[in-house]
Amino acid sequence: MTKVRALVLERQHELALREIDLPLEVGPGMVKIAIHTVGVCGSDVHYYTHGRIGPFVVNEPMVLGHEAAGTVVEVGEGVSHLKVGDRVCMEPGIPDPQSRASRLGMYNVDPAVRFWATPPVHGVLTAEVVHPANYTFKLPDHVSFAEGAMVEPFAVGMQAATKARITPGDTAIVLGAGPIGTMVALAALAGGCARVIVADFAQPKLDIAAQYQGVIPVNIGKRNLAEVVSELTEGWGADVVFECSGSPKAWETIMDLPRPGGAIVVVGLPVEPVRIDVAAASVKEVRIENVFRYAHQYDRAIALIGSGKVDLKPLISETFAFEDAVAAFDRAVEARPSDVKLQIRVAAE
Ligand code: ZN
Repeated sequence: MTKVRALVLERQHELALREIDLPLEVGPGMVKIAIHTVGVCGSDVHYYTHGRIGPFVVNEPMVLGHEAAGTVVEVGEGVSHLKVGDRVCMEPGIPDPQSRASRLGMYNVDPAVRFWATPPVHGVLTAEVVHPANYTFKLPDHVSFAEGAMVEPFAVGMQAATKARITPGDTAIVLGAGPIGTMVALAALAGGCARVIVADFAQPKLDIAAQYQGVIPVNIGKRNLAEVVSELTEGWGADVVFECSGSPKAWETIMDLPRPGGAIVVVGLPVEPVRIDVAAASVKEVRIENVFRYAHQYDRAIALIGSGKVDLKPLISETFAFEDAVAAFDRAVEARPSDVKLQIRVAAE
């Protein structure tokens, strides 16, 4: 064990920037990474405010953070694709490679997966971590650490766009213009959608999404979404609807939105069970897909960011110094509608 400084969630509502013992021995197949930048995620904030997410309960002090980029500082035996000094980002979930889910290629739903900052697994708001090289990805030289730390949430968007099976020229709808909704919209556009209608009540969020070519913002506090979609598609409906709001209310009218044979991709997790109009889904043969994190998305997410086709920089609202990490979380709790992604710079430079 090594003593390192970390942002520790002691228990619900109590954060501390303090020293903690973490295992930092670099075994075979592993790399040690000096953390540079970490994004603040809704799940980190939820553990802070609620002390749990579903079955995952914070019973012991836990380091937060799972959206990270940094520099390789030590390489374990048998690692050939990374070297000291490489700038990298990391996939936070480590599955059991021998599990049945992993062997089927869907390692994200391996029940044994260990995911950063999901109790009892520590996260990465700390100076250094040791991680499997197989889940560590090199960043192109011109992609910043800040962008590297955005790869994790963008990978969720990539998974959603992949599950949607987008065809070039498609019209998509994204319900919810939070960070994930916006990144789903960008992945859908990169995947070939001609236009993505982004729906939310919060105008500042819509204004941020509207900066991107192909995004059509719709303030659903002012306009009826089904009417807008009907107008834009001559009554046919959208090819894909991405539910990213997590709002049970969104499900009440969602079946009005897809075209016959269209798809609904569920990204947002509703806090309570929702009712689905199965008959309405049936007469349109609506395909319903679910997204849980991501699998096999990092390479392509990094390629899109590196090519310049996807620019996530406008989504970084503010960057806090590591010393101000608690303030960053308190700012996230405020949930200002103009904030998309808050980040913490762990490294001094
Ligand atoms: Zn996240």
